[in-house]
Amino acid sequence: MSDLPHKRPTQADGTAFDDYTLSIQGLIETGRDFHHRGWSLGTSSNYSVVVERDPTRLLLTGSGYDKGRLQPDHFVLIDGAGEALPGSRNRPSAETLLHVVLARSAGAGSILHTHSVEGTVLSEAFLPEGKLVISGYEMLKGLEGITTHEDSVEIEIFPNTQDIAALAAKVEARLLDPVNPLRHGFLIAGHGLYTWGKDLATARRHIEVLEFLFKIVTQKRLLKY
Ligand SMILES: [Zn+2]
Repeated sequence: MSDLPHKRPTQADGTAFDDYTLSIQGLIETGRDFHHRGWSLGTSSNYSVVVERDPTRLLLTGSGYDKGRLQPDHFVLIDGAGEALPGSRNRPSAETLLHVVLARSAGAGSILHTHSVEGTVLSEAFLPEGKLVISGYEMLKGLEGITTHEDSVEIEIFPNTQDIAALAAKVEARLLDPVNPLRHGFLIAGHGLYTWGKDLATARRHIEVLEFLFKIVTQKRLLKY
């Protein structure tokens, strides 16, 4: 962490960090947990926390690290254009721009991206419909803004691409849609899940809830009911 500048950024809830230690520890613990659960295997996934708003600064996992064994020097600070700040020794992930648009246009304080088996399978199965709609489960209430099991979550599915700038532009347009904007998360086909929240704890809860629901949908299809 020695190459990270020490400032006093604030979290989404307004409380101050002494430096970035809490964010880094939180993301290290998140990686260990998600790797253990099979959601972040083989250096896949990336996680970020917004550590400053004006100008935008995100603390992001560096490219190519095993998320089950993250170390304090495996992170990179990026600016609002997705560029690594001078002095960073790690490369940001190829998917950095998705984090940037979620921080900017979803107001996210933390963004988590995982590659689970269920999320990957469902992203392919429902790609022709363009979305996965899940309703009727008590667990839905773990998602921000959902207060009853009768509500539903609509997880949009984007085709996979290596043109992340184009995908980020599409995602941002959907986040800013005045009628039916993206909420909670989205899937990239054959790839994985992006979700976000006002802070790391909320984003983690969203991943847990969505992964639980993905398991339910997968099991139901297997049992054919
Ligand atoms: Zn990915």
